[in-house]
Amino acid sequence: MRQRDRSCELCGNDRLEQVFRHGFQSRTRNALYQWDVRVVLCPRCGFAFASPAPEDQDLLAYYADSFAASPLQQRDYSLEKRLALIDRFREPGRAGVCVEAGGNAAGDFAEGLRQRFRQVLNAEPNQSCAGSHSTLGELGDGCADMVAAYFVLEHAARPLEFLRDCARILRVGGLCVLEVPDLHAYPKSPVSLLLYEHLNHFSPRTLDRLCRAAGLEAVHMGARECSRGYGFAAMLRKSGRVLPAYRDGDPDDAREAARAAESLRQGVEALHGFFAEAEAVRERLDSHAAAGGRAVIWGANDVCLHLLAGRAPAQGVEVVDSNPAKADFLRSRPVLLPEQAAGHIRASTLFVVCTQLHAGAITRTLEGLLGRPVEDVLVLDLPDAAG
Ligand SMILES: [Zn+2]
Repeated sequence: MRQRDRSCELCGNDRLEQVFRHGFQSRTRNALYQWDVRVVLCPRCGFAFASPAPEDQDLLAYYADSFAASPLQQRDYSLEKRLALIDRFREPGRAGVCVEAGGNAAGDFAEGLRQRFRQVLNAEPNQSCAGSHSTLGELGDGCADMVAAYFVLEHAARPLEFLRDCARILRVGGLCVLEVPDLHAYPKSPVSLLLYEHLNHFSPRTLDRLCRAAGLEAVHMGARECSRGYGFAAMLRKSGRVLPAYRDGDPDDAREAARAAESLRQGVEALHGFFAEAEAVRERLDSHAAAGGRAVIWGANDVCLHLLAGRAPAQGVEVVDSNPAKADFLRSRPVLLPEQAAGHIRASTLFVVCTQLHAGAITRTLEGLLGRPVEDVLVLDLPDAAG
């Protein structure tokens, strides 16, 4: 992907401090991407972001080719919290148009929106998800009563432009609901730092500042209302007037920057804990395989790629995933469906599950295949990845 350097989108500063650097390979349906993630902090205002970042067009192509979440996977957010926040602020009885950016149009949440709005549209670049539009740019000015973007803004290479697009398609007085990971939760949930696709790391203050620059005025912000445990929710209103901007040199900016630096430092420390854990599991797999034992790695995902550290699985180790679209995920070796791997699973004596969220269901599937309880299951996942 082509990359470009970024200066601080909040205050224009280009004297930035690097806080984390991380190289990683990721897979889409048709390509292998090499990421070199460099997270920087603006010491003037406390905004943290990835720089350089991919060019918009390359990023859209990447998302267009991404894997869709399997429809069999359980929901990883609270539907009730999303709908409760919308119900708290929407005008009763005004059944207008709601646009969800990055939503995949299916499921209970989309159904909840359809019960509340006359029309529900989607702007979703991933071509393996059903969407009515692929970007907000395709929608007309003032067409929407509400825009919702759940865990989308951290992916935007130009977040101010994205927010201006949200404001543009809203009528004056229309609502914009956003959820993003919370930078100040990184000491406990640092996974966002490691997700190479996350290009922005917001706190309530830095998000408020960016929204204001886009003409969106915060009416409510809070972590309790957020549908995932590691983020915060913001309800904003399109203002018909120019909003007063943050003043440069405000002492609260310096306080925010110091606090952000500390949150990032602790988050990076927690990630190093994950790297050490992955290394220990890798060594255990290697010695198990070297002694002629068979083993299963369940889950063809990023955690699995971290575990393998760029190498093919050892002889006697198979990677299993219940999503048939992942068959070619590793390139070096096919990923097997559980039924294809049944014989290997029965002969295995070590199991590594690369997801906390689905570990219970996977263990039950293993026990069904083995016909006995399994105790020797190692679960490897990013810190607090289940939210
Ligand atoms: Zn700044």
